[in-house]
Amino acid sequence: NEEQLKQWFIGSIDQGTTSTRFLIFDGTGTPIASHQMEFEQIYLHSGWVDHDPVEIVQTVETCIEEATKDFTKKGYSVSDIKAIGLSTQRETTVLWDCETGELLHNAIAWPDTRTQHIVRELKERKGANKLQDVCGLPLSTYPSSVKLVWMLRNVDKVRKAYDECRLAFGTIDTWLLFNLNGKDKKLHVTDVTNASRTMFVNLRNLEYDSTVLDFFELDPKKIKLPKIVPCSDPSAFGSMASGSLKGVKITGCLGDQSAALVGQKGFEPGMAKNTYGTGCFLLYNVGEEPVMSHHGLLATVGYHFGGKRKPVYALEGSIAVAGSAVQFLRNNFKFIEASPDINTLATTVKDNGGCVFVTAFSGLFAPYWIDDANGTIFGITQFTERGHIARATMEATCFQTKAILDAMEKDSGHRLAQLAVDGGMSNSELCMQIQADLIGIPVDRPAMRETTSLGAAIAAGFAVDVWKEFEELKEINKEDHTIFKPQMSKEASSKMYKRWERAVEMSKGWLD
Ligand code: ADP
Repeated sequence: NEEQLKQWFIGSIDQGTTSTRFLIFDGTGTPIASHQMEFEQIYLHSGWVDHDPVEIVQTVETCIEEATKDFTKKGYSVSDIKAIGLSTQRETTVLWDCETGELLHNAIAWPDTRTQHIVRELKERKGANKLQDVCGLPLSTYPSSVKLVWMLRNVDKVRKAYDECRLAFGTIDTWLLFNLNGKDKKLHVTDVTNASRTMFVNLRNLEYDSTVLDFFELDPKKIKLPKIVPCSDPSAFGSMASGSLKGVKITGCLGDQSAALVGQKGFEPGMAKNTYGTGCFLLYNVGEEPVMSHHGLLATVGYHFGGKRKPVYALEGSIAVAGSAVQFLRNNFKFIEASPDINTLATTVKDNGGCVFVTAFSGLFAPYWIDDANGTIFGITQFTERGHIARATMEATCFQTKAILDAMEKDSGHRLAQLAVDGGMSNSELCMQIQADLIGIPVDRPAMRETTSLGAAIAAGFAVDVWKEFEELKEINKEDHTIFKPQMSKEASSKMYKRWERAVEMSKGWLD
């Protein structure tokens, strides 16, 4: 009952692309305490994005300490925290020595495009056209596999560890679990959703696939791949080795986009959510069998709660650049001082004034998969002001979302009735209105938008019986939704969209 649920608490680590958070929810899904920290994006060369894995662990530990301090200050007791859930940025690749625990290189983050040439080479290799049907992902700069190949070819320490059978591979979840459990325990585990983003996993049986490993010329005896487990488990993820939450079990683990799908309670086939963070990711629940896309989407694991439950799959539309383009206007062009200011700037003009910004800083992902597209602003005239570019920046994500929804309709034969949204950029009322106008269906935004954290907390809570059935989550985060209804005429929106499609065509191959 509600009184009891208010006395049960679950911690949730949200290790995102640009920031780390720790939230503590009660059993009704209400956030009680939280702390957030940004960390460094390391841009060594054009197209490169590194993260420092040690800094990432430190931000997690600091966020846990600060939020827990806030929690106890509010009169709550740490001993009532039943479990911790973990959600992480996906694909970002970390390598360490499995014997000494020594980190061998910075993490290569998911938007990084240094692997463009490797991808071109691999596309010519025998078997390349069969990969997607096994793992659900197209060969591109995006998954972990190509990042690993780059490090094997370019980092001596990595090659040496591989040759000496000491190379440990992990995505951020695996790296964090290894560290939070205390390195001496040598825990080496990943959940199915993160594993499904490496390219190494067969989507149908959720095991490492030898044909894929062969394709990437990886000898499984020389590289230690993490054990794959469901997202919700009472013991597989271990427990905190130190700090204020020492001894608390980690019982949930998911990739951030899967966590958001769970946090939005997208439990039925046909439900979808779109998260506007650094990038933007639309996940559409397709049920208990994977659906391979024929229209530029990815097939991925939505979530898997283990036990008697079967894994649930999703079709995914991934957009590489969303909020990061807002940050680009702030950091590089100095148009604004803080991200939310983009809205004030964009409302100084009534429309985009003919500007289209193809924000292809990492090429274009779904549904286009154009590795050699570059960021390009079209339609600049003497009339163009910063406000037009601000608008065009937000519109870029909305156009790509429309392209993804069109592809999803073709793949699934089903037209979405309403789009559930969350993530940093969904704070923008203007952006969400533009989105509704372009897709012609209502956009549904909850007031409590920490849905990624909530999803990880739900996975953790299921493993320790805070909840037992999805039914019990019905009341969670139900109140105070804002619905953005389409207001623009079909003619006007399709005219805008046609311009976007032309701009995408013209943004190809600039550097060749
Ligand atoms: P992630 O989890 O990928 O790190 P978040 O969901 O925290 O991302 O979203 C952060 C992104 O949202 C940033 O890139 C920021 O520029 C953008 N953002 C935050 N607030 C706003 C706002 N009010 N309007 C537009 N964009 C915003």
